[in-house]
Amino acid sequence: MLSTADKAYPIEVAFPDLARWQAGNTGIDHVFTFDSGRPGPHVMINALTHGNEVCGAIVLDELLQRGIRPLRGKLTLAFANVAAYRRFNPADPDRARFIDEDFNRIWSESVLNGPRDSSELRRARALRQLIDSVDYLLDLHSMHESCAPLLLSGPCDKGIDFARQLGFPANIIVDAGHAQGCRLRDYADFGNSASPKNALLVECGQHWERSAVVVARQVTARFLHMLEVISQEHLHDWIARPIEGQQIIRVTDAVVADSLKFHFVENFRGLETFPYAGTLIATDGPREIRTPYDNCILVMPSLRQLAPGVTVVRFGKLNHHT
Ligand SMILES: [Zn+2]
Repeated sequence: MLSTADKAYPIEVAFPDLARWQAGNTGIDHVFTFDSGRPGPHVMINALTHGNEVCGAIVLDELLQRGIRPLRGKLTLAFANVAAYRRFNPADPDRARFIDEDFNRIWSESVLNGPRDSSELRRARALRQLIDSVDYLLDLHSMHESCAPLLLSGPCDKGIDFARQLGFPANIIVDAGHAQGCRLRDYADFGNSASPKNALLVECGQHWERSAVVVARQVTARFLHMLEVISQEHLHDWIARPIEGQQIIRVTDAVVADSLKFHFVENFRGLETFPYAGTLIATDGPREIRTPYDNCILVMPSLRQLAPGVTVVRFGKLNHHT
């Protein structure tokens, strides 16, 4: 499927047909676990937390076609919101993000154990027991806007250390997630600083740009190398980009839209830095949104999901260079 129908960004990549992976091997559709039979961690690569974020699905499809197997521990490969992915339509690409609700805002005990029902909650409840046994998770995402790739570590020091150990991509975003609900990245022990379990969310680039796939391959290969799931020679062809130094950006504030009148003063894509506090970056009807401090960095600005109560950009502060 190749199209340039999306208004903002062309669709440069082909969407893999996931029907061949439907059966899985775990009793959960589109989910595979490979057990080395040797001691070691349970490592999981997750794609399609958001159904329109195809780069992760492309990478998992390639790993399965290559017949990847772990040298130690267990490796799980999961296509999460396949129901949403299946309804991808280039004429209305954002519709494939989810069916009923955002799959990445439901990962708390109270919501998962609660009485609510949705397509995403049914899928999360089906995956939950398996995810509870995962030690290290890499969750592959992409962004509405074309921005340099971002590694989201969560708020704990253990996540920041994990991101630095991975060494790629260059921008580590330290944030506590969203007021609307808990992300998979922050679920249970992943977000518990006392647990050795760890998770990273990577935003590989714009949803449909070819370079997002290149980033997703590289971060996946490095993740599997770091955890000694595969040898350094395996997937060596996926290490395409030289490693630069990393910088850590701490998210301090989330800007939530009050109305559909919210708009940015420029077409921001993310990581823009404003030297002076008080710089106007957006208006929302009569309300002015200004940077709260010097050297403020914009994190993931987007109006693609604009509605009252939705986070449209976050402010970040450079922590230190590594
Ligand atoms: Zn996403």
